[in-house]
Amino acid sequence: MEGGRVTRLARRRWATAAELLQLVNAEPGITRREAAERLGLSSGAATELVDRLKRLELLNESRAEHTGPGRPTTILEPHEQGPLVLIIGLRASGWELRLSDLAGRLTALTDAPYEDDRPEAVLTTIAAAVAGAVDDAEPRIRCVVVSAAGPVSGTALGQLSARHWLELLDLQRLTAGIPAERRPPLLVGNDATLAGVAEARTGASKDTSVAVHLMVATGIGGVLLLNGEPALGAHGTGGEFGHLPFADPALECTCGSYGCWDLAVDGRALARHRGEPEPADPEDYARRLLDDLESGRSRSGDNRGAVALAAGAFGRGIAGLVNAHDPDVITLGGLGPQLRRTAPEAFDRAYRSGLMTVHQRQPPPVLDSVHGADGPTRGAAYLGIDHITSPAALDRWAGNEPETDTAAR
Ligand SMILES: [Zn+2]
Repeated sequence: MEGGRVTRLARRRWATAAELLQLVNAEPGITRREAAERLGLSSGAATELVDRLKRLELLNESRAEHTGPGRPTTILEPHEQGPLVLIIGLRASGWELRLSDLAGRLTALTDAPYEDDRPEAVLTTIAAAVAGAVDDAEPRIRCVVVSAAGPVSGTALGQLSARHWLELLDLQRLTAGIPAERRPPLLVGNDATLAGVAEARTGASKDTSVAVHLMVATGIGGVLLLNGEPALGAHGTGGEFGHLPFADPALECTCGSYGCWDLAVDGRALARHRGEPEPADPEDYARRLLDDLESGRSRSGDNRGAVALAAGAFGRGIAGLVNAHDPDVITLGGLGPQLRRTAPEAFDRAYRSGLMTVHQRQPPPVLDSVHGADGPTRGAAYLGIDHITSPAALDRWAGNEPETDTAAR
């Protein structure tokens, strides 16, 4: 097969370059000498490789502070004209565009609210902005990654429940405004999954073999990470821990099921415990209540009680995930850290009492995320950088041919 032969050739030609560029991403500020050691390259071979990548506008060097014995070395950096990842964030409250270079350095392009309730209209607006961004950066944007606040399968988004979008949306239309011959490949990830990837690469679960990441927003998203890789399931929707049936089976969930864990933990649970109607934006509702309690604006015992019930349901569910997956660590994002912090005893009691005996002596630590609200964007950048530093993508960059949609995956 012609295609297979080209790919094998590209792999041979670009494998070491790909490893070097991935090292520049994983360890910002790495010197040429350290990189050569890490990849087992002679100093001559490293110089030759770096020179080749400089000519191709992939890398640049700056002088490193001279420390220790040996000749001075340089710091490896992404080239200022090098390839970029465009990140589309479909958040609960609005959408955003970010650019990432090979080192994962982010530039903000757009932050906008959803100005329409119809998903079609919103996707059309974003597609126009994406086409504009790709035009402006021509030909540097080599991959587009969507971070979406909803379940994802392939390039389809199952629902964006915070916006009451309950139908299946094909996100390929976000790049449909770009002429096919220069349309970059599109990758789509769930925001909680991507945040988990960011924690595993450079955050609170770095270097663990098994980790669980949980992100509380409207509902609870998450992912199981095995040696830093997300376990996505057979169709890409793995990690929807919020839809484990840990809550009252009489409660109906937007996912089509009953008794989901989401409903016992997020703003809907807090409203129910306070005797209030279901909030239109459960994430915002929960954030306000937690902020009020934390700042002392609210001293209501009923509010504290409501949060303690939700924090307890959160801790008990996490114990269930520990029993199921035996992780080294659990990391918390979104409103998770604040929910635990506001009712630490209720959380801890429920967590410990839900653990099987084998876990009780040394319960896995539950850590706040390092990347916080940036987690999904960081994870999306890592996904895109993995793609643009692949041997096949580097081959196309060197040939100055844009990687078209048909080449994706
Ligand atoms: Zn559900």
